[in-house]
Amino acid sequence: MKQNLFDLNYEDLKFFLSEKIGIKEKKLNMRAQQIFTAAYQKGLNDFEKFTTIPIDLREELSKKISFNDSKIVETHESSDGTLKFLVELFDGNKVECVYIPEKTRGTVCVSSQVGCSLTCTFCRSGTQRLVKNLSASEIVSQIVLVKDKLKDWGDQKIVTNIVFMGQGEPLINMKNLKTAIQILKDKKGLNYGNKKITVSTSGIANKIPEAADEIGTYLALSLHAPNDKLREEIMPINKKFKIKDLIQQLKYYTSVVKEPIFLEYVMLKGINDTEDCAKQLVKLMAQFPSKVNLIEFNSWPGVKFKPTERKDIEKFSKYIQDKGYMSFIRRSRGDDVLAACGQLRTESQKRKKHLS
Ligand code: SAH
Repeated sequence: MKQNLFDLNYEDLKFFLSEKIGIKEKKLNMRAQQIFTAAYQKGLNDFEKFTTIPIDLREELSKKISFNDSKIVETHESSDGTLKFLVELFDGNKVECVYIPEKTRGTVCVSSQVGCSLTCTFCRSGTQRLVKNLSASEIVSQIVLVKDKLKDWGDQKIVTNIVFMGQGEPLINMKNLKTAIQILKDKKGLNYGNKKITVSTSGIANKIPEAADEIGTYLALSLHAPNDKLREEIMPINKKFKIKDLIQQLKYYTSVVKEPIFLEYVMLKGINDTEDCAKQLVKLMAQFPSKVNLIEFNSWPGVKFKPTERKDIEKFSKYIQDKGYMSFIRRSRGDDVLAACGQLRTESQKRKKHLS
């Protein structure tokens, strides 16, 4: 089995080049840099095209290292310009990722797992059972594939932001998430800064300190309810990690990363959109630096919730602002092609051992 390049952060690549290819210490940095630049800045996906490297070494590398093993098999374009991509992985599983163009930026929303274990009741991705964690290369390749599709190599910067808000729970896939983010952040590679990446979590409290110490990007918490009773009803994960635990860990996160937490709050009619909920939310926000993003609920076939009306979302938002906290109403994008928040889902099944 060849080593997939996108599974190696810069230091891992140097180690691989030394141990498996026999490159001498004094040339290691140069070769690793040449590979990172060609793969992640120029978007080259074949060692033959790596002209800065001698031909015999290129041949050796191509025998031992493979590139992106995933491919885009379907593209759906929304009337608002949002693009949803169906990505087929090497093992046949599929995940979705989304490109969201805006006036001043372009965001890629990536998946971290095939399926999801959380079963949040309002989320369509939660109706697909967990199949597996994505490897670092399967995460990185989503961004590389979208950049390739948009011809975003060299000086172009079409994809300016990355959000881990696709299928799956990133903090349950911590090890691979960390490697993928190291590759995304590497200045010699894709070069996305801490403020260009947002990891969104449903609230895996015990992983938040590790994310603070070793990831350091923006963090979003899918809160959706301001008290345990309601949150437990709509997000089963709250049975394991209570709001009190979350607050404690988020305080730590903001003390290390020094940026506010984005609280995601999907507005469900008659469920979490009352003035009482707004009041409780404000009390919660008083405890650590945060901003709230109110999300219009995106409907999907079979779901029992209804979206809160626009005027009521505005009222809720104003309540929070009047108390001196930041509240934004997030416009839904890509809804018509089921590309919006919480709508991603792929057909999948666990592949039998002998097939994988
Ligand atoms: N598991 C992580 C990453 C997924 S992010 C997390 O929960 O944060 C996807 C975001 O969309 C989450 O905030 C999720 O709660 C929200 N979401 C899920 N279903 C939705 C829906 N139907 N409409 C709007 N937002 C939804």
